[in-house]
Amino acid sequence: MCGIVGYIGKRNALPIVVEGLKRLEYRGYDSCGVASLFHGELSVEKMAGKVVGLQSLLAKKRDNPIIAIGHTRWATHGIPDKTNAHPHLSQSGEFAIVHNGIIENYRVLKKGLEDNGYVFSSQTDTEVIVALIQTLYKGNLEDAVGNALKHVTGAYGIAVMTKHEPHKIVCARRGAPLVMGIGTDEYFVASDVAAIIQHTKQVIYLDDGELGILTSDGVETLACDRESISKDIQHLTFDVEAIEKSGYEHFMLKEIFQQPQTAFDSMRGRLNVKDGSAHLGGINDHIGSILHADQRYITACGTSWHSALIGEMMIEQFARLPAEVEYASEFRYREPLVDNRSVIFAISQSGETADTLSAIEEGKSRGATTLGIVNVVGSSIARATDAGVYIHAGPEIGVASTKAFTSQVAVMSLLTLKLARLMGMSKKDGIEIVEAMQRVPEQIESVLNQSDVIAEIARTYSKASNFLYLGRGVNFPVALEGALKMKEISYIHAEGYPAAEMKHGPIALIDEKMPIIMIAPKDKTYAKVMGNIEELKARKGRVIAIATEGDKEIAKIADHTIYVPATLAFTAPMVNVIPLQLLAYYIAVEKGCNVDQPRNLAKSVTVE
Ligand code: GLU
Repeated sequence: MCGIVGYIGKRNALPIVVEGLKRLEYRGYDSCGVASLFHGELSVEKMAGKVVGLQSLLAKKRDNPIIAIGHTRWATHGIPDKTNAHPHLSQSGEFAIVHNGIIENYRVLKKGLEDNGYVFSSQTDTEVIVALIQTLYKGNLEDAVGNALKHVTGAYGIAVMTKHEPHKIVCARRGAPLVMGIGTDEYFVASDVAAIIQHTKQVIYLDDGELGILTSDGVETLACDRESISKDIQHLTFDVEAIEKSGYEHFMLKEIFQQPQTAFDSMRGRLNVKDGSAHLGGINDHIGSILHADQRYITACGTSWHSALIGEMMIEQFARLPAEVEYASEFRYREPLVDNRSVIFAISQSGETADTLSAIEEGKSRGATTLGIVNVVGSSIARATDAGVYIHAGPEIGVASTKAFTSQVAVMSLLTLKLARLMGMSKKDGIEIVEAMQRVPEQIESVLNQSDVIAEIARTYSKASNFLYLGRGVNFPVALEGALKMKEISYIHAEGYPAAEMKHGPIALIDEKMPIIMIAPKDKTYAKVMGNIEELKARKGRVIAIATEGDKEIAKIADHTIYVPATLAFTAPMVNVIPLQLLAYYIAVEKGCNVDQPRNLAKSVTVE
């Protein structure tokens, strides 16, 4: 979600922090700011709007501070204006804080502090933390931060500075990501490694309840009792190019076009052609628990929830094992039937999704085995689960997920294949599936080659106010995903339905103004879907069919046809989603929308 960047070293901290904030812009935010210490004085510059504005504001400054903390805010408490933007100074001006997350008991704390004469200047929940720090400070910042946090409930990643200890940043986390970066004579703190990767690849991830101290001499991690703890330094494996646009107009377009490679990367080394099976090293030790579990839950949010639905359908159909999909946000509140004979898969691109983390905690507290399917290596979900599988899609910057979706589905397919073979799927069928999966990257490529056709269709429908997406079987979640992409980046209302369900209600919406995306490959429901298209045409609906290459029949009745290569049901979602991603993208561009940073959205949703 919002971002934190801090720096202490020998260089001018301001451009480093601002550059880091710019790298986090993709996460979605509404205001930004930076606090720095120069000649013993704390100063803050902040504003509503984009980091580029902050950059011009700072260009006027003559200071050359070697320590600073910055923030991009995604408002939860108080409107996104300059006053509520972070950093927040304490009333005395001695302490500055940046915070990601939500302080749930801030009203009570605020009231108590006000009763003791503290005067607040913003509407944020954040300000109570810096108020507590000021009140509790007795000459040591980490002690004051640690003691202040004892009063706080909710989620936070924070970084704090004080004029009394001008060579120190203290950071802490509970439920919101924070990582410390180790450079040569310089140290960083950030909510996302993208902010610091151009400076260092050596990082230490903080865990919940831990405090980090950055000084000009190094970094230290403390447990909540303030005992020093030794943590492993992790080496990041991607380069700064991975988080740049590389000539594409938008990150989203780059990521759509990366999918032949990223789908391949998700399957690399995991397909066993000879055996017609798959190998998922990360969860090898848990295969027995998965097979023998009383309940198998797959929990996720947003796009990942659509991958979960595909996973559920495949596991049930091919491995003949019951599975259930849950919205992570609903899971903990509905008293789920979970115990130590349950397995919970949690899918999340960022690995930081607060709702999904809470679902994992709920599962763990009831004794379940938890397995993560995440993209970001070392993320909170990767660490909170018992084991897991990385999808290896590489950094995804566009807020609307594309390549992570295909890679999540690839991993769900591998998992299904592994389980199915153990549950009695024949080797011959397994080999057929492995071969189909190997063809996916080139099949995605062949759909991408039709981007011009799709861009043309997008021009025709960019003024539509609604879209309906229909599909059956595994293509139903694909329809949901297509509709979500359209909503997210084009702000056009769109709904996904199982194709046959249309006649039970949504058909009332059909008229000549309603474009309908019908996913209609030549599979076992093809004849029925063709019937649905006739029904739509009879009511003047405008049908854009996603059809199997060579299908001439459908082109006769649909208004537009986008061809996709023939696939097995097993691999269809990864291929059929591509035209839907492109359609949403080109319509958003046509409408002049901010594709990579759609309004109100954030890349990883770290609040519940
Ligand atoms: N809850 C804080 C606020 O509204 C922090 C929001 C954020 O994570 O950016 O200011």
